[in-house]
Amino acid sequence: MHIVVCIKQVPDSAQIRIHPVTNTIMRQGVPAIINPFDLFSLEEALRIKDKVGARVTVLTMGPPMAETSLRKALSLGADDAVLLTDRKFAGSDTLATSYALTSAIKKLSEEEQVDLVFCGKQTVDGDTAQVGPGIATRLGFQQLTYITKIESIDQGAREIVVHRRSEGGVQVLKTALPCMITMLEGTNTIRFGKMDDMFRAARYGLKTWNKDTTGAEETKVGLKGSPTVVSKVFVPKPRAQKATMVEAEAPTAEAPSAEAMAAAAVEAIFGAQPKLADELLARAAAGL
Ligand SMILES: Cc1cc2nc3c(=O)[nH]c(=O)nc-3n(C[C@H](O)[C@H](O)[C@H](O)COP(=O)(O)OP(=O)(O)OC[C@H]3O[C@@H](n4cnc5c(N)ncnc54)[C@H](O)[C@@H]3O)c2cc1C
Repeated sequence: MHIVVCIKQVPDSAQIRIHPVTNTIMRQGVPAIINPFDLFSLEEALRIKDKVGARVTVLTMGPPMAETSLRKALSLGADDAVLLTDRKFAGSDTLATSYALTSAIKKLSEEEQVDLVFCGKQTVDGDTAQVGPGIATRLGFQQLTYITKIESIDQGAREIVVHRRSEGGVQVLKTALPCMITMLEGTNTIRFGKMDDMFRAARYGLKTWNKDTTGAEETKVGLKGSPTVVSKVFVPKPRAQKATMVEAEAPTAEAPSAEAMAAAAVEAIFGAQPKLADELLARAAAGL
């Protein structure tokens, strides 16, 4: 079984600031990390490797510095790594990004058939959640999104059973391989790398591919292949209305129950805002 995990190097969003005048992202000095959602996918791929045996290849498209993220993934246990980097990819939107990544996955398939592609649910910078489904569509793979658990994989029957979070419940889905999976966050605990893998990662000769290596068409990558237009980037205005603090008096019993404390809090809120009950009833009646 050959599994490809797509990982994107992103700026650590916890440390990003917006320039107050130009409203652009200030990336200077912001550390680059593996998109946190992608780590859950990588962990799931490594669990499949541990359970049924698989070769796990990590793939990223980005500038040469994205190599550090690939080495991190190798140190966690990935077997192989591909850095897709080319100035011609610069300016790619999600359409062009998924095309470029697909061209690399097709090339990997020439070496060994790819059975599973993992992507994160979304990235913390672009945030579109479009690239995974874009890859699945281009490869003609089944797509399983918002997955919380891989229940089983039957390599003989080439079938996979997964749990998918949906509104109001969990869907248990069975589908044929090959397929593309986007894992939800928090679905597993990301492992610490083993010392052997850390040493291997530091020395590993990862593959560095460009547009020509994968045979990607020039008109389908970079700005040329990107029909998306970003019309405006702006920081939302802070809300003018401030929240008000409502204090509830604790019920008098020595060890008040949660219900009694909640009732006291609700009473205090409605007491402080006499019109709130009418407003909520009117909204409920209007079906809002
Ligand atoms: C007009 C335009 C121009 C742009 N120009 C640039 C630019 O010059 N430089 C730039 O960095 N960005 C640029 N972007 C942003 C770029 O399109 C996105 O970073 C990229 O398409 C991924 O989209 P996303 O972050 O929303 O990923 P999502 O769709 O949210 O990602 C879902 C999953 O797909 C996988 N994935 C996504 N991107 C990659 C990747 N690069 N490598 C491996 N796996 C990946 C990951 O598993 C990820 O969790 C541009 C966007 C537009 C609209």
